[in-house]
Amino acid sequence: MSIVPRLRTARHVCPAVALCGWLMTWPFGAVFAADAKRPNVVFIFADDCAWQAISAYQEPRKLLRTPHIDRIAREGMRFNRCLVPNSICGPSRATILTGKYSHSNGFYNNSNSRFDGSQITFPKLLQTAGYATAIIGKWHLVSDPTGFDYWHILPGQGVYYNPPMLENGQRVQHEGYTTDIITELSLEWLKNRDRSKPFLLMCQHKAPHREWEPALRHLGHDNDRVYPEPETLFDDYSGRGLAERDQDMTIEKTMNAKDLKLTAPSQLTSDQRAAWDAYYEPRNEKFRRAKLAGRDLVRWKYNRYMHDYLGCIKAVDESVGRVLKFLDDDGLADNTIVVYCSDQGFYLGEHGWFDKRWIFEESLRTPLLVRWPGVTPRDSTNNNLVSNLDFAETFLKAASVPIPAEMQGRSLAGVLKGQTPADWRKAFYYHYYEYPTPHHVRPHYGVVTDRYKLVRFYGGDADYWELFDLHKDPHELRSVYGQAGYADTQRELEKEVVRLRTELQVPERDAPQASGRRLEQPRATSTK
Ligand code: CA
Repeated sequence: MSIVPRLRTARHVCPAVALCGWLMTWPFGAVFAADAKRPNVVFIFADDCAWQAISAYQEPRKLLRTPHIDRIAREGMRFNRCLVPNSICGPSRATILTGKYSHSNGFYNNSNSRFDGSQITFPKLLQTAGYATAIIGKWHLVSDPTGFDYWHILPGQGVYYNPPMLENGQRVQHEGYTTDIITELSLEWLKNRDRSKPFLLMCQHKAPHREWEPALRHLGHDNDRVYPEPETLFDDYSGRGLAERDQDMTIEKTMNAKDLKLTAPSQLTSDQRAAWDAYYEPRNEKFRRAKLAGRDLVRWKYNRYMHDYLGCIKAVDESVGRVLKFLDDDGLADNTIVVYCSDQGFYLGEHGWFDKRWIFEESLRTPLLVRWPGVTPRDSTNNNLVSNLDFAETFLKAASVPIPAEMQGRSLAGVLKGQTPADWRKAFYYHYYEYPTPHHVRPHYGVVTDRYKLVRFYGGDADYWELFDLHKDPHELRSVYGQAGYADTQRELEKEVVRLRTELQVPERDAPQASGRRLEQPRATSTK
């Protein structure tokens, strides 16, 4: 298998200059003359979509059926461990575009980061290579999109109903449910695209982000089902440290009246509001009368949360069905890579939580399903440590575009064929920064392997290490850091953290947008 040359790009030069210099070295005609069948890419992206909610992942609770999303898995590959390097929205999006960690692309958190759109991104490279490019839906990177012929995005987080959007910078007011609107705009762009070119479409939903507001047609979709609970719904956080105990993201304490639909969203028209009230009000009235407390109250909130969150995903699933049907009807399916994924995972009551952020499995892993006809074996699964860091490189490789050396992931092309390279990563570096708001999750970094996680929490008044053994403790309830039986493993993982931080050029001092703290490397294993 021929490997696309990895061209060296100097670090610390102006990204725009780097892009120009890089492009000048690249013989366009030579690359594409013999390559007329470059595949299209349809990248379908959800926001905060837990893999536990996708039926292809077969989570024991069987929370929802997602037949259209599952079709991608059935006709392609399901990844069981697609890990994100920083489990929140903006940073994940910046990583996907650049193929880089937060410390390399400069987007650390959702609070005060702004995406530097002059840096090299894969849409820009595909656009330059002759692809028609579009992004429709949630962007959430503050600066305007670059590298797209067409963009039609939600400002900021966007809203679920009747959203204002920005079409190539011009404000447009839409009426309807945002997931449906993003779908229709995506289909419209596909219909009207420049048919002389291969294309990249990034169809990026707001759903199922907080506050989990379903389409009106999906209110009551679960017939008031009482959902099975995760084993750790009432986790007491013993066996772990201060960070896990002292967060602000529990179903019990953090969910507010808007999350729980005890107040209605403000954007509804009067007709929409009537449909909303017809579903929620009788149930809310019953809830108020019941005056629940303690575990019964948590259970009520958990069930309300599941109805709403899963209802949002039902619309996303329908959207996927419509896009797949369009690709079938337009004769595009055979030469189009279809990806379904999310910007991170999400807690559906595990550890008593909603939200994301942690290095733990529910938030670290994003669903990833890829259909690439002629490449991915049908109905296949993969357990390698892959990442959204690898997406940019994968799409560039598929389009026969050279992969810039500064990108920090690796093309999944071999993995997608079912031929994982022998030197595929065995350890993955993770680093979360956003603190103290909005959820008071302390910054942490660490290393993840197929079996273990070594993590250091360092924000505020916390500074400690934990070690988890996923084989013996799959729910990550008990740190074994410092235990004699794990001394060798711990030593190896400590070395691995140092190796990865050096290789990835993680600065010893966190950026000001992060904690600004100096992070010395781990010392030799303590005797604690
Ligand atoms: Ca997100």
